[in-house]
Amino acid sequence: MDQQKTAALASIDQISQLICDMSDSIWDVPELGFQEFHAAQTQCDVLEKLGFHVEKNLANIPTAFSGSWGSGKPVIAFMGEFDSLATLSQKAGVTHADPVVPDGNGHGCGHNLLGSGAIAAAYAVKEYLKTTGKQGTVIYYGCPAEEGGSGKTFMARDGVFDDLDCAFYWHPGPVNWVNPNTTLANYAVKYHFKGISAHASAGPHRGRSALDAVELMNTGIQYLREHVPQEVRMHYAITDAGGISPNVVQSKAEVYYLIRAPKVATVQEVYERVNKVAQGAAMMTETEVEIRFEKACSEQLINQTMNEVLHANLSSIPLPELTEEDLAFAQAIRETTSAKIKPGESPIIRTISPLRREVKLDYASGDLGDVSQICPVGELMTATWARNTPSHAWQATAQGKCPAAHKGMLFAGKVLAAAAIDLLNEPEKLAQAQAELKESMGGNPYFCPIPKGVPIPNL
Ligand SMILES: [Zn+2]
Ligand SMILES: [Zn+2]
Repeated sequence: MDQQKTAALASIDQISQLICDMSDSIWDVPELGFQEFHAAQTQCDVLEKLGFHVEKNLANIPTAFSGSWGSGKPVIAFMGEFDSLATLSQKAGVTHADPVVPDGNGHGCGHNLLGSGAIAAAYAVKEYLKTTGKQGTVIYYGCPAEEGGSGKTFMARDGVFDDLDCAFYWHPGPVNWVNPNTTLANYAVKYHFKGISAHASAGPHRGRSALDAVELMNTGIQYLREHVPQEVRMHYAITDAGGISPNVVQSKAEVYYLIRAPKVATVQEVYERVNKVAQGAAMMTETEVEIRFEKACSEQLINQTMNEVLHANLSSIPLPELTEEDLAFAQAIRETTSAKIKPGESPIIRTISPLRREVKLDYASGDLGDVSQICPVGELMTATWARNTPSHAWQATAQGKCPAAHKGMLFAGKVLAAAAIDLLNEPEKLAQAQAELKESMGGNPYFCPIPKGVPIPNL
């Protein structure tokens, strides 16, 4: 590794306390999607302190922002997140379920680490550009509401990512690997039924039940399920059952659907059929249905060139050193999971998974998919948690402030920065990544699946 690259990566060690404090502060104030005011302010303050030019309110979203440095091409981005999850409140450093606030929010997906580690990466690239005098722009994007809000897709709809040459992303987890898996595109849609209330016993013939319509719609979907492509997923939550009185014909009810498929185009086809089922339910019950499109996201395109660059650096930068205490805490956490523990196995994974070129489908969705259709994206995971730690569980929240998590986060920052520095030095590699994306897109431009005019949820 050349000296200047080594020095740039070492610059992360010099700001490690600042980065860890930022991550801990975000962990301490867990906020839900589009409401991450403390996290956004904390990150903007740190970015300014580190010499970045901060822009706020991107795409008219109060908690979307960027911190940039440098000028001209290439423009290399690091994507950050900082939203938490409802009901995953949990005390840090504890090996049993024990919420800070019962039913409160918690960082059960490690996004306090995610955004902070990405800022560390952006800083190292900035230091590299500064000391080498090379041309290029580095940008950190603060992206709200990854959990169910598709913040990046709303930002993409506004053209925020249009000038990027490539982007890097990482996620905390139990393994060290470059993610070769694609995701499902999805639409999130609310079906709001309106009927007529009446006494459910004395005058049921006068009422038209919105709750009946919801139930009939859901029954209709069970029949539709057999006649859609295998990978399609249709799931729902009844977000308004109309009320708590069985002696009232419910005049309003709402069901919230997530429709997923490997391609946005398939989601659109299924969505049109789901709408027919909703209209059928409304017709059967003589109610009215209002279809409210909430948000959407695209499937992720895997970029092998980006993955190769990331994997080369993941394999060559030494893993962080762990202490006996780090391992003992991880072991205690592990024993609370359903994992089968093999004797002698390190409770925190100390190996690098080989790079897999075969792309498999993860039956989940994420808004990084939209970024991956605009510019080449490389996605990394480093071990911040004990082996087998389930995501979206109290065990993940409990480990979010521990030293091993901090070490995994700073390691991720170094790997991401190193990969970006390689692309600064090898424009032909970056061109190759871009050509690969163009081919994956079949020459078509990115099309945002969230229609114009759909407002940002909860704002
Ligand atoms: Zn998550
Ligand atoms: Zn996550």
